[in-house]
Amino acid sequence: MRRTIGASNGLPSRHIGRVVDSSAIAAEWVPDLNFLLTVNNAEELSCLESLQRGGLTNVAPITGCPTIFRQLDVAVLDTEKALLPGDVVAVSGSQGFLHVLYREEDKHHTVFVTNRCSSNCIMCSQPPTSHEDRWLVDEGLKVGRHIRKSPAVVGFTGGEPLLAGRDLRILLDEMLTGHPDCLVEVLTNGRGFANPELANSILQDLPPRVSWMVPLYGHADFLHDFVVQTPGAFDETIAGLLALQDHQQVIQIRLVLVNEVLTEIEAIVEFICRNLPFVANVALMGCEPTGFALANRSSCETDYADWHQSLTAASSRLVDAGIRPIIMNIPLCVLPRHLWSHAAHSISDWKRVYVEECRSCSVADRCCGLFASHEKGWRPGRLSPIREEVVNEPI
Ligand code: SF4
Repeated sequence: MRRTIGASNGLPSRHIGRVVDSSAIAAEWVPDLNFLLTVNNAEELSCLESLQRGGLTNVAPITGCPTIFRQLDVAVLDTEKALLPGDVVAVSGSQGFLHVLYREEDKHHTVFVTNRCSSNCIMCSQPPTSHEDRWLVDEGLKVGRHIRKSPAVVGFTGGEPLLAGRDLRILLDEMLTGHPDCLVEVLTNGRGFANPELANSILQDLPPRVSWMVPLYGHADFLHDFVVQTPGAFDETIAGLLALQDHQQVIQIRLVLVNEVLTEIEAIVEFICRNLPFVANVALMGCEPTGFALANRSSCETDYADWHQSLTAASSRLVDAGIRPIIMNIPLCVLPRHLWSHAAHSISDWKRVYVEECRSCSVADRCCGLFASHEKGWRPGRLSPIREEVVNEPI
């Protein structure tokens, strides 16, 4: 989620609105949405006043100009002038931030369903909280309604989305109905689906535009339960995966490549190929150096160049089994060339950076780059720019 500096007057905290400029307000306005009208000059101020005289109560001004902001009783200040038309924004009142919950030009879109989680993974990038946060579901519903241009794909994440229970299905239905061409990917530990009642309430008659990203960190309980720091999690996750298969859902298994997983990666992949052959693909994911990963550095920091042989063997085994491997969050120059065809442009837009070495690199437009958080953590290996023109190597 992008965050920018701002302020607001006269609006409730977490007021959700869509940014619109004065040339588009007439075409976009509907009574049941909130609009943040760009007001940066006298002409736009006059447009706002005319809308207000017409009785529109769901249009609030947003400005990059502190003088205009101070003049108005109800207004949002976009201090960094960072917002764009079409952005769906949460105005955070006294916190001094504006959160961009949806940006049309981004490729990666995320809805946070809850901050609560039933696991406690050693590399969790978003450490969970325990307090009640049903407001995130309400906010997710509002975001879905305020989106102007439907995304191709949106990710639902947490925390653990299944802890929202039936609310997760309500959110899914809202997104799928409001955006008929949109695919939804739900990142879940899958454990809740070990409960058949919950599985039925969420999965029964679900439109086939949802896929489920389920982490599995071991071929046996000792390893998976260690990584997620929760006894019994392995058995529940396997039961959840089988429930998803019973409901004919599309499944991606995710392996975050911490050192304990890398050590056993060939055994884990063998387990998947033999016991879970119905999964559509397996993501082999570089670890994001943030959150709990910083506290568990000996497990999470690694140079992926040291694991070429294991990554190659795991990918080959998956291909042989008819399961597509997808390598995520590892820069191309840290991978051997023969694995580039499996590499995805995976790091979310607002988390991705390119560094000095990337300036002279010929594959920067196809490379996932680095997590911005590497600056406080570590790099995924030694970067060395690719100098030559690379052709005929689909990524
Ligand atoms: S130098 Fe940068 S852009 Fe090039 S492959 Fe490495 S990380 Fe990617």
